[in-house]
Amino acid sequence: MGFLSVLSMAHKLIKERVQPGDTVVDATCGNGVDAQFLAELVGSRGTLYAFDIQEQALTRTAERLNASLPVQAVEHASQAEGPAPSRANSMKEYPLPKLHLVLDSHEVMANHIAVNSQGQIAAIMFNLGYLPGADPSIITLTEPTLIALQSAIMLLRKGGILTIVLYPGHSGGDAETIAVEQWAANLPQQIGQAVVYKRIQRSDAPFLVAIEKL
Ligand code: SAM
Repeated sequence: MGFLSVLSMAHKLIKERVQPGDTVVDATCGNGVDAQFLAELVGSRGTLYAFDIQEQALTRTAERLNASLPVQAVEHASQAEGPAPSRANSMKEYPLPKLHLVLDSHEVMANHIAVNSQGQIAAIMFNLGYLPGADPSIITLTEPTLIALQSAIMLLRKGGILTIVLYPGHSGGDAETIAVEQWAANLPQQIGQAVVYKRIQRSDAPFLVAIEKL
């Protein structure tokens, strides 16, 4: 059967802490897989901020959110038991949250987030590295990532969660991985509780750092 993948574990930890109507952030939206997951969790009453430095990432995320959420709603609805009216209702359960797709580095995310949401964010996801299917030389970089993580911790509400998926196996990923792990290990315990989910037999395998704000 095997353990959950790193990304599935990140989603599980977030799902346990996020409610419909919450405000959430995808700090590296890429192809929009995590953004879609977050959008479904917070629903139409929620707010999603998604950041990337590549325009094509924002385009892919927008396409995924606009196209696949309604389709998925239909799939959910068609699986639902019961008479047609209840299926029609279930189709209304997955409309989009309020979206802010931001073409900017996550290190300045606080500049883009509404003042009344600062300190109120339920979950912030980082999936580091490069955009699959695009230029692999455009990767997240250690210094901006550390600045962004520090900002993310400040933006979270108490009980909110920060997840970081790290890729020590790719070029440029090693130094960033070490720096982020050190940053998390040195985070004062009164600010947050940090854990690692990792396949310890493979040093090049991606792994997850998750922090719950206290
Ligand atoms: N979460 C994405 C998904 O679900 O498809 C995958 C993210 S991909 C592994 C990493 C992304 O980080 C790339 O799209 C890349 O352009 C983006 N990125 C790199 N540096 C960034 C920065 N400073 N701020 C925001 N995004 C950045």
